[in-house]
Amino acid sequence: MRIVLFGAPGAGKGSQSSLLFENEGLEHISTGIILRRAIADDSSVGREAKQYMDAGALVPGRVVRKLAEKAITDSEFDQFVLDGYPRTIEQAEWLFEFLESNDAPLLAVVYLKVPDDIIVNRISNRRVHVETGENFHLEYKPPPTGIDPSLIIQRDDDRPEAILNRLLVYHEETRPLKDYFRERDLLLIVDGVGSFQEVHSRVTGALRELQAEL
Ligand code: AMP
Repeated sequence: MRIVLFGAPGAGKGSQSSLLFENEGLEHISTGIILRRAIADDSSVGREAKQYMDAGALVPGRVVRKLAEKAITDSEFDQFVLDGYPRTIEQAEWLFEFLESNDAPLLAVVYLKVPDDIIVNRISNRRVHVETGENFHLEYKPPPTGIDPSLIIQRDDDRPEAILNRLLVYHEETRPLKDYFRERDLLLIVDGVGSFQEVHSRVTGALRELQAEL
């Protein structure tokens, strides 16, 4: 199964991808996590990406494309969930061509639908494990006790100054992809409000229904 999780920052793409990894064995490919690792490693990609990410802007397409290409190739073109890629029409066009030329079409693009006020609450309460990339929510999914607190951080781009810009970029550049996916008959809209497990059940239910139709 090859799917894309799509939605605003804070819609739950990362958490739902982790559950799809745990319960369905899908590899979680997140360009955001790969970029944050590159920054932590102080690699040349990380140094280039950092300024864009801190400002809540998109990292240049050629940089992210290489990362996506490598991760998808490493997955052997199957059993993956893409989280945070594609984010522009240009990225989507490249992805479709790349997958098609490798005989690996997408099953679906799952759109996690979440209203803006909930998004802002989720992002401001989000914390992330620097090494694993796992997301926590201070209220609904607090980091387990016993974890070294210095490993649990607030992402720089989850701070109020950057959140606004990320939401703006999302509405201008990424949201138009919804029609693009709909036209290709790939869009599955899932209500993203609820507990992690509730949303997960909706996602897997929608995917199973789709697979049964094929
Ligand atoms: P995420 O973890 O998916 O919220 O991504 C965090 C940040 O990484 C984004 O705000 C962008 O700066 C950068 N990023 C991640 N994926 C992409 C992408 N597909 N295109 C451009 N920038 C990206």
